[in-house]
Amino acid sequence: MPILLVFVLIAACLPVEWPLPPFAPERRVALALTGGSVALVLALAFTLRVWVVRTLRLDPARRYEVARTYNWWRRTLFFLNIGTVAACVLVFGWGWLVWRETLVFWNDAAQMAPFAELAVPLPYFVILLGCWFIYYDAERALHRVLHLGDRPYWSRSAYLLHNLRQFALLVALPVVLIVTQQTLNRYAPEMSRTTLYKVASLAVVPCIILFMPLVMKPLLGLRSMPAGPTRDRFEALAKRLNFRCADFLLWHTHGAAINAFITGLVPRVRYVVFTDRILEDIPPDELDGVLGHEIGHAKHGHLWLYAVFLALSLSVLAALTLYLDQYVNTATSEELVRLRGWLVGAKTWMLLPPVVLIAAYLFVVFGALSRRCERQADLYGCKTISCANPACTEHDEKTVYPPGGNCLCPTGIRTFARALDRVRELNGMECDSGGRFTLRRVLRSVWGWVRAWQHGPISRRISYLLDLANGLVDERRFQRRLFAFKCVLMLSLAAALVALGEAVGWKDLFDAL
Ligand SMILES: [Zn+2]
Ligand SMILES: [Zn+2]
Repeated sequence: MPILLVFVLIAACLPVEWPLPPFAPERRVALALTGGSVALVLALAFTLRVWVVRTLRLDPARRYEVARTYNWWRRTLFFLNIGTVAACVLVFGWGWLVWRETLVFWNDAAQMAPFAELAVPLPYFVILLGCWFIYYDAERALHRVLHLGDRPYWSRSAYLLHNLRQFALLVALPVVLIVTQQTLNRYAPEMSRTTLYKVASLAVVPCIILFMPLVMKPLLGLRSMPAGPTRDRFEALAKRLNFRCADFLLWHTHGAAINAFITGLVPRVRYVVFTDRILEDIPPDELDGVLGHEIGHAKHGHLWLYAVFLALSLSVLAALTLYLDQYVNTATSEELVRLRGWLVGAKTWMLLPPVVLIAAYLFVVFGALSRRCERQADLYGCKTISCANPACTEHDEKTVYPPGGNCLCPTGIRTFARALDRVRELNGMECDSGGRFTLRRVLRSVWGWVRAWQHGPISRRISYLLDLANGLVDERRFQRRLFAFKCVLMLSLAAALVALGEAVGWKDLFDAL
């Protein structure tokens, strides 16, 4: 859930007047309550670690049950950790304390020290680091019994570095960018109002998206995939599909992750990344399908689509916020004047709703777009390993795969579905086995959707493909509907931006971005 974390951390770093601790003496109460709650959640993590290590030592045969329970608790504790930090900032006075203690004098006014807002979510960083330390032993014990000791595990420092790298890329980078902008606004207000600065700060985002792959490679410690049969296979497949990228990369995770992804908008800085485990545990024909899925994202222009969608959406949301602001501030009707008075009373708290709005919007709208694109990439993966015979029953060494990947055959679809199923199984995800309609099942399936908001639950993806192989659904109909969906979405966003831009004034909108 890195995206949730990003928004929570951004909200914590905003210049909000956080409330005082519940009782006096304020400073000591804030420190004691915050320190106490951090210690409490770390103690819970430690209890989980002790249970995992001890249970596995006494009875290694319970490894799958222990792994499931451990994963469930770890996810639950993730939310508890966020809730605890929210309580520290909102109720226990930690946010107030940080703002009070980090004031410095600048230009004859008290200002928060540069980057000091990062201290507001500091309890979370402490918990996170503590959890990595604590969970290491549990993860190592699990790794040992799940891999029967034949795969070495990280040292503790390498494990910490591995987690830190992912956190830096997925979470810290966007948060630090926003905090940098806030710091510049505080310490160089004239500069931050110039057009050049505005243009530069808007251009930072596309630059980051464009050059992200180059940063990602050293940051995650990715290596070029070594020469050998797998790489030869990938290169032959890329050639057959007329796909270009800078390199195929290997992500060494000591078997911790079963994953593949593509990154980069243009071929020169585009990589396809595979973790060690997916290369080892997925058979070659299915692996071709996995690579096909990633290539499908590039062939269908998904990365470009996402970039344009995000740029348009954020502009529309900024314009909408500005429009509402202008509307309330210029209104004369009695209710709106009362609302205005109330908003002035709420002061800096009004910074938070836009963050919640953006998070909810991305979750719902980007989620819907992304899930459809994932299915399109799944279909491309199937086509990658399909022959030209739409009624074929099996493939062998003599099967000819047409260039370009435009055909779809039942064997190709089933092979790809098998790859997905294997990934599901290796990740320890349960399949939705049907059965009685119980609250527990409903909750589990809702949770499955929330977790898989970008991809859709893997069991749903598999069952769609099996329906397709059995001729129960029509692939061309899906493609037509997706095309219409993309067009309607993008045109609506563009129309909304034009309408709102005209309403609020383009210059004001540009200044508000
Ligand atoms: Zn994908
Ligand atoms: Zn076939």
